Amino acid sequence: MSPILEETLNPKKIQEFVGQCDILENLTIFIQAAKKRKEALDHILFHGPPGLGKTTLSHIVANELGVNISVTSGSVLDKPGDLAGILIHLNLNDVLFIDEIHRLSPIVEEYLYSSMENYKIDIIIDSGSNARSVQIDLSPFTLIGATTRSGLLTAPMRSRFGINLRLTYYQKKLLKIIIERSAKILNIPITEESSYEIATRSRGTPRIANSLLRRIRDFAQIKGNGIIDSNICNLGLKALNVDKHGLDEMDNRILTSIIDSFKGGPVGINTIATAVNENSDTIEEVYEPFLIQEGYLIRTLRGRIATRLAYQHLKRAIGNNKKF
Ligand code: ADP
Repeated sequence: MSPILEETLNPKKIQEFVGQCDILENLTIFIQAAKKRKEALDHILFHGPPGLGKTTLSHIVANELGVNISVTSGSVLDKPGDLAGILIHLNLNDVLFIDEIHRLSPIVEEYLYSSMENYKIDIIIDSGSNARSVQIDLSPFTLIGATTRSGLLTAPMRSRFGINLRLTYYQKKLLKIIIERSAKILNIPITEESSYEIATRSRGTPRIANSLLRRIRDFAQIKGNGIIDSNICNLGLKALNVDKHGLDEMDNRILTSIIDSFKGGPVGINTIATAVNENSDTIEEVYEPFLIQEGYLIRTLRGRIATRLAYQHLKRAIGNNKKF
């Protein structure tokens, strides 16, 4: 989805953000308390699979606090100087959002520690024999880190976040509400059945729901009469080759591999990772939670096992001696 369109669909306030109720309840209290004390909100770590609203929530937090937000990413902050340049420009109680915080280099990460703890940084001025380190006081600020791979965060980094929140996949009825809200903003009429159908195919993920909606809107406007009804919805979903249950290509590869190559399991995560050519942390943190939630996979001490539902989904015969 284009950045401009994403922007228009983004909820701007806590009341507009659908789902993740426990997180919102806690955040509301923390925000109110920080505002009452006129202090910077404690540092927050959002973790969870991509597209669930970590970036959106970070903007909402800044908005609700009534402060500015500076946005950067762990993969672009190469040197401590890059980070220092951002930190010294923050105003009182501002939010600094670092996406993909697990990608920070160790040297930048270490530099971040003292700024998070006591709002001070050391910078080197002058060069050669005149070079010396000077400590600078920063304005108190809130760091919000987002990561899809919390397992890759170092323990010292993790311990510096006072608030640690995990976003989970959305139920279909919540995705349906998100789709209906987005359809209203995009000014495209949609039937109840169609919003539910798109929700079913969105892998529990608002980003996928919004991008499917946008694509199907194209079909409605070009092949239909400008309304997303069941016919247009099914036509669009078929043309887009979207899995009936919302699983993506990697989800299907993981299940296929467990069933076809490892007799349905149990099989260890590293073996699966090698078979599908993906990092085992990514499988564990991005793909597996959805497959388990939807009942395609179970995790046992001896490894991962494909369920009866997975066999049925991939149209594989279940052997007589197979027990689930
Ligand atoms: P992440 O940072 O976790 O990858 P984003 O915050 O970029 O996810 O969210 C992806 C898109 O999904 C956003 O553009 C936003 O419009 C939409 N979105 C995410 N969560 C919600 C929600 N709870 N309600 C409505 N829209 C949402």
